[in-house]
Amino acid sequence: MSPSASAEPAAKSFDERLGELFDELAELTGQRNAIDGRIVDIVAEIERDGLWGATGARSVPALVAWKTGVTPSRAETIAAVAHRLEEFPQCAAGLRNGTLSLDQVGVIAQQAAPGSDAHFSELARSATVTQLRTALKLQPKPEPEPRPDADLEHDPEPGPQASITTNSDEQYRYWQIRLPHVEAAAFEAALRSHRDALITEWKQCAETDQRPPMPTTADAFMRLVEAGWDAEAAVRPHGQRTTVVVHVDAKDAVASLHLGPMLDDADRRYLTCDATCEAWFHRDGRLIGAGRTTRTVNRRLRRALEYRDRTCVVPGCGATLGLHAHHLVHWEEGGPTELWNLALVCPYHHRAHHRGIITITGPADALTVTDSAGRALSSASLARPPTTPPPAVEPCRGPTGERADWWWYQPFEPPPTDAN
Ligand SMILES: [Zn+2]
Ligand SMILES: [Zn+2]
Repeated sequence: MSPSASAEPAAKSFDERLGELFDELAELTGQRNAIDGRIVDIVAEIERDGLWGATGARSVPALVAWKTGVTPSRAETIAAVAHRLEEFPQCAAGLRNGTLSLDQVGVIAQQAAPGSDAHFSELARSATVTQLRTALKLQPKPEPEPRPDADLEHDPEPGPQASITTNSDEQYRYWQIRLPHVEAAAFEAALRSHRDALITEWKQCAETDQRPPMPTTADAFMRLVEAGWDAEAAVRPHGQRTTVVVHVDAKDAVASLHLGPMLDDADRRYLTCDATCEAWFHRDGRLIGAGRTTRTVNRRLRRALEYRDRTCVVPGCGATLGLHAHHLVHWEEGGPTELWNLALVCPYHHRAHHRGIITITGPADALTVTDSAGRALSSASLARPPTTPPPAVEPCRGPTGERADWWWYQPFEPPPTDAN
């Protein structure tokens, strides 16, 4: 006897089974759209009230990806819709009542011109995501909408911004580089070290008529560029950053950059934390010694640290580039440069820690990271089994997706602005 389903009444036809599955899909799709609508509302509230700044996340999309366990690109979509929620009330309503999908409203929020809510919410009822993208390409070039992640208004610590401006005349090109003091110190230290090297080479030249002119800072700058070029060719992930020289007054624990301005506590601790900075200690105006060399994270230790931590240790971050070796107990307080007292952090979170936005507490094998309110951060998403019924919305069978006739399609035209 063959083990068959013959005991069951006549098997359902192919069409019936597919129909039932599609019904269920439509139901779930409507519910999912409505749930996404609520998620977007929550993210909009978090963004609007600046609640995310205290979490230690570097942006709203980063927070969404971390807390909901979605991909960075989906998090970007959610954040983009949340960012323009008030501009697109009809699209948002479609999401909440389950008739439009997050991806449909997402492409609209990412590209549509201001004032186009009614136009695109209507179009989205029939247009698939791909068709919406085509329609959006046909709209007149919108004013560039700042992307939410580049939106500096919402930066919890905007701080001074670096900038480079250029102009040129017939013979030269001029660069004006504006850097906050911390970055400027790194730049100046690099320039100085290259100039010192050039002068050492120059001194070795015989004092003859062929001797080239004394190297200038401009020569040092070009040498720095070339060195950067070489380094790029042989990428050195474990390479040390340029040494920044900091003078620390041992009695009052105040510091100043070498030949530069005074540093506040946060900047001093940040700069002197990773071993790539050279600290000179003074007391009563006299030099009493240079930073302990044991602070230097040597190559072996650095490798062990990278092997252990892999990424920035702050939950939800995952950055892997340009990581700093942070001393959990600062060496100013006697913290040794040993594996248990070190943690890899990205420059953003390293800065955030020393500025008190987040707190990283060791030892390394029992690391706790807390936000500014002292809540422990964990890398887990917030997902858990639901305790409330799904949203009561109509099933959603998706956009009709009828063959789009782009010949007859009227792209969105912004209404003429009253120039009076
Ligand atoms: Zn540090
Ligand atoms: Zn990080």
